[in-house]
Amino acid sequence: MKAFQKAVEARCALALSRLLADPDDAELEELRAGCLAHSLGWDAFHTGAAISPLLSGEDILRQEWESGRMDARAQVRLDEALEEMNACPTCFSGSGDPCHFHG
Ligand SMILES: [Zn+2]
Repeated sequence: MKAFQKAVEARCALALSRLLADPDDAELEELRAGCLAHSLGWDAFHTGAAISPLLSGEDILRQEWESGRMDARAQVRLDEALEEMNACPTCFSGSGDPCHFHG
């Protein structure tokens, strides 16, 4: 799904969540909106895209977008750390634990 479509979808799900009478249905739509915003934030970390105006006007969507971006950054750092440890001659050498420097 393209970023714009996803942002439209997120905004629509949030709008729908406010219209639904059943609180469970409403919560599910709100979660879906949050998930979409989170995934857009994740993608944005990699593409450098700015937050869509469709999301930025809604606190919950803006927060999820930001948290997606932070999670993507954390994942990259983790990948880098693991890569470094894999390349380190003393990490996991026999003991199964990282060395002093990387532990
Ligand atoms: Zn090490």
